[in-house]
Amino acid sequence: MLGVSLAGRTVVMVGAGAVTARRLRRFVGDGARIRIVAPEAGTEVRALIAEHDLVWIPRRFRAGDLAGAWLVHTATGDARTDARVAALCERRRMLCVNASDGAHGSARLSAEARSGDVVVGVVSDAAVDPSRAARVRDAVAALLDEGRLPIRRRRRTALGRVDLVGGGPGPVDLLTVRGRRLLAEADVVVADRLGPVDVLRELDPDVEIVDVGKRPGAHTVPQEEINRIIVERAQAGKRVVRLKGGDPFVFGRGGEEVAACLAAGIPVEVVPGLTSVVSVPQSAGIPVTHRGTAATLHVINGQGEIASASSRAALADPAVTTVILMGVAALPRLVAEALAAGAAPEQPVAVIERGHTPAQRTTRSTLGAVVEDARRAAVTNPAVIVVGDVARAGLLLPDRQLAGDALR
Ligand code: SAH
Repeated sequence: MLGVSLAGRTVVMVGAGAVTARRLRRFVGDGARIRIVAPEAGTEVRALIAEHDLVWIPRRFRAGDLAGAWLVHTATGDARTDARVAALCERRRMLCVNASDGAHGSARLSAEARSGDVVVGVVSDAAVDPSRAARVRDAVAALLDEGRLPIRRRRRTALGRVDLVGGGPGPVDLLTVRGRRLLAEADVVVADRLGPVDVLRELDPDVEIVDVGKRPGAHTVPQEEINRIIVERAQAGKRVVRLKGGDPFVFGRGGEEVAACLAAGIPVEVVPGLTSVVSVPQSAGIPVTHRGTAATLHVINGQGEIASASSRAALADPAVTTVILMGVAALPRLVAEALAAGAAPEQPVAVIERGHTPAQRTTRSTLGAVVEDARRAAVTNPAVIVVGDVARAGLLLPDRQLAGDALR
């Protein structure tokens, strides 16, 4: 098997039906210069011709149509015509894919799975069997998506790169497929304490793992130091993944890390993650918006300045869902401010600790009682605090069940 670059090279496609449409997409993706010869074109091919401004010669094939071709693809639906095209190519020393059933052209298209810049192709050596090739391809693609193939570069490129990957709330299967692939390609992973830390155990033993996890009250790696670590590793030609809990741009200081990379001229990209703002309440069955209950969402960093007018207004309004991150320590102050701002003491509050983990626990309370309830339950970080009507127990239960107390 030979990997051939078709970029800027002429590919002649004889026939314009469904098979041609499928292959056409691939050749267009490869950057080939495409010439189609067929008296009629199917709707799919017509659409592709219009979309990509392709050359279509609307008549039956003639030998002269092959002029300048590097590769010919014939799928006319008529085995004799395809065989004639293939024979002509053979004489002219052009490679030809013959799509006729059971035919063997001088070239064949592999079923492809891609992951980043790795391409895995599947072909049959003897009799073609497209559906078998597709099944093998799908199995390989699934392994690639799960990050289970060793696709990490062995040869260093001159310039490294940094990917900020949002890891979601914890479980490895709530990390995105793209994030998992980038981890499989990484030379260095700079990880937090929160997020899908179990995935680190699945990486190659020689991947460097730098733990910059912040534990409340314990030693923390200053942000400037984290910025320096990711920039320096990338400058040494390494592929760096900065793995973060939740989403990189929600109280994750991801913006500062991107800015540090850009300032150093390091290529940097951000992969979104499931933020705990939404996914942790969801793990307790709490929708952050709910038709008829709450249509506005307000997010507060409990460690930061809480006393802003908009935050006080949000806390006081039961139709606004207020989600507080990093708020366990600040809870008494927060509640005092909310009550002072006119919030009703009956307003529902839910505290969800360690969402999406086996140790998840939800404490339901009200603004008036939550400080005492949280103290009694010994609530700890990480936890998400939800204030507003959506935090009411039984919100999503049908009326019939709400009427009785059994399921509350
Ligand atoms: N970038 C992250 C937030 C980082 S701030 C995101 O988008 O989710 C860290 C805070 O997130 C924690 O203090 C806690 O409030 C919340 N958090 C993150 N993961 C959590 C989890 N699994 N359960 C409960 N809270 C979580």
